[in-house]
Order: sequence, then C-alpha cells, then structure tokens
Amino acid sequence: MKPLGTGSDDLTGHGGDRPPSAGLYVHIPFCRQKCPYCGFFSVPSPALIRPWMKTLLKEILLYEEGFGPFDSLYLGGGTPSLLSIPELTRIMTHLRAHFQFRPDTEITLEANPCDVSPEKLWGLRELGVNRISLGVQSFDARALAFLGRRHTVRDAENAVRHVKEAGFDNISLDLIYGFHAQPLQSWKETLHQAVSFAPAHLSCYELTIENRTYFGKLVQTGGLSPLSPDEARTCFLITSRLLEAYGYTHYEISSFARPENRYARHNWKYWRHAPYLGLGPSAHSFVNGRRWWNVRSVRTYMALLNRDERPVGGVEDLTESQLRLEAVALGLRTREGVATDRIGPSMEAQSRLSHLTDAGFLEICNGRVRPTRKGFLVADYLPAYLC
Ligand code: SF4
Repeated sequence: MKPLGTGSDDLTGHGGDRPPSAGLYVHIPFCRQKCPYCGFFSVPSPALIRPWMKTLLKEILLYEEGFGPFDSLYLGGGTPSLLSIPELTRIMTHLRAHFQFRPDTEITLEANPCDVSPEKLWGLRELGVNRISLGVQSFDARALAFLGRRHTVRDAENAVRHVKEAGFDNISLDLIYGFHAQPLQSWKETLHQAVSFAPAHLSCYELTIENRTYFGKLVQTGGLSPLSPDEARTCFLITSRLLEAYGYTHYEISSFARPENRYARHNWKYWRHAPYLGLGPSAHSFVNGRRWWNVRSVRTYMALLNRDERPVGGVEDLTESQLRLEAVALGLRTREGVATDRIGPSMEAQSRLSHLTDAGFLEICNGRVRPTRKGFLVADYLPAYLC
C-alpha cells in the first residue's frame, strides 16, 4: 500500500502551521423510501420538508456566533437531492448570511442517481456546490434490487455522465459490498465500471446489518444470512488491491482517492478531531472536547426549535484520556495513522506495538504508526490493544 504523501495530520491543503478549519454538516432527513439496510436517520415524509426547513433556519441562527470560518460544507442525509433548487437555495442563502466560509470551501451534496437531471446539476453548480457524492451502490441490477434501491443501473450510469457533463470534477461514488446477492465477480465488475468513470473518490462500504433495520429483522428471523467473516475479509482485500492497482490511495478503511489530494475534506475532520458543527435531526457536533448530538426525530426537532430551544438530544465532555483514546481510534482508521508518541509509553503498550508491527498489522514510518491493509481489517480492535 502506498503511504500518503504528507506524513502529517494536515491534509487540509492549508499547510501545517494553521489549526484546521471547522466543518459544517447539514442533515437533510428525507428520503423517498427507506432502504432495507439503512441505519441513518431519515423519514419518507416529504410533507414535512417545508416546516422542517423553517426550523433549520432557526437552528442556523443559534450557532451564528462561535463557529467558523468553515472550509467544508456537507449536505448529507437522507437524500439532499430530493430538495428542489429553490429549497436548497434558501438553505444556502441562510448559511452564507450567518456563517463565514473560506473561499475554497469544499461543498458536497449527496445525491440519488434518480435526482440528478442536467438542469438540477446546473442549479447546484450555481449554488456553489463543487463536489457530488452519488449513491450508486452497485452497477449490478440484482444487487440494486436486493438493496431496495429506487434507481437502476442505467440511472446510475446516466447520473455519473450528467454530473461530469455539468462540469463537476470532484465526484465521489458510494458503493456497497459484502452480500450474497452480489457475488465476488459481480463486485469486481462494479469496481471496474466505477473506475471507468474516473471519479476522484470512491467510498466502498461493507454492508453492515444493524438490528433496527429491516435487514436486521430478517437476520434475526433467519430470512437473511450475512457473509462469513472470511468472505467479508476477501471482499475487503480485493477492493483495496484492485483500486490501488488503478492508482487510488486507500486512505481510510472505506475511502479511496485519486489523486491523493481528493480525500473527503469534510470526513477528514471527523478522523482528525477537527471541530465540526452538525445541523438537522440526528446531526453530531464536536468542539474543544465536547460532543453533542441532535434529537433523532423530525417532529421533536421542530417542536424544540419552535419553542426556541436547542434540539440537542445529548452531550458528552470527553476527558483527556478519552480524547487520547479516541484520537488513536480515529487515526488508526486512516493511512496517516497517529504520531508514535500517542501510543502509551508503558512497556506493555510498546511490546504490543512491536507485536503488531512484526505481525504486519501496523508499520512505523516518519514518526507515525500506520495501519497496513491487513491492519485496516482489525482497526476496531487496535486502540484497546495499544492504549
Ligand atoms: S436513500 Fe440513503 S439515507 Fe435514504 S434510506 Fe436509502 S440509504 Fe438511507
């Protein structure tokens, strides 16, 4: 695997002498229908879009002071592309009126392939959106049917073409692997097809089945069987090798960029403990060791804001040791890894570090501990073992 070029925590493009800028996330919690595997918070209730927008504008006002300037704005969901250009214009106008953004801000909008007509894409460009994350998921019709997606392979292909023709050069495709309805050969073909569009970024997620989803219930009743850990591992390794062979940098467990500087700037903030503000139901925020998250209900969110209350569902203040552990956990999800001095100085921690490097899970390079491809497979267990 290629190491990343910078060898530092700074992939923001600002140079290492400036603290990272904050990121802004807006959760647009509406979908046309609920996908059976989806654990994100979203509701298929388009009638709520208008009243919800009014309260989002109130929430923006609550954070006018204290954040920014931002250099990333991520409109995620849900399905932000469900909103019309006039609705998105209203949100963007409010955000720009009450927050400061750096001139080179990366503005990402998540889109469903069914929603990206050429006219819509031109409207998005005029709004300043400069990065589109398309929820393609697969280029195999059987896999799309299994995933309950509302778009076809043809829709996905046309969507990528339209996005490119509209002049977006920073495109990310979301893909899902790791289920029986998509055999390994079909997954490889999806990857080859995705690469044929030369997207700057690919997010390849292993299907994880959460209990609260429809798939989760199917698994509990024996109606669906997940891949075995060995099968899932094979899919992961094939994905990583194949995309790196195409010149993509596998810079985070699920994320690939080509060229290297097309990392997802917004997500990079999550992995680097940079400050971020999240607006909308279920959105999370983090600043100065404090994390808070909004309520996971559109109606409660609206009711609280209509009473001029913050729609916060919970807060946690992380202690120094929690912050350190979390920084290691997040850092070891990325090829940048963490500075070696983040690993505990005790004999035991150092001997475990040696053990993991000898076994090929980690490598030490330029004063940093980095997971290898094999290390990504066990990234969830590394911090507890090392700290
Ligand atoms: S479109 Fe996306 S957010 Fe909406 S239900 Fe499907 S996976 Fe979840």
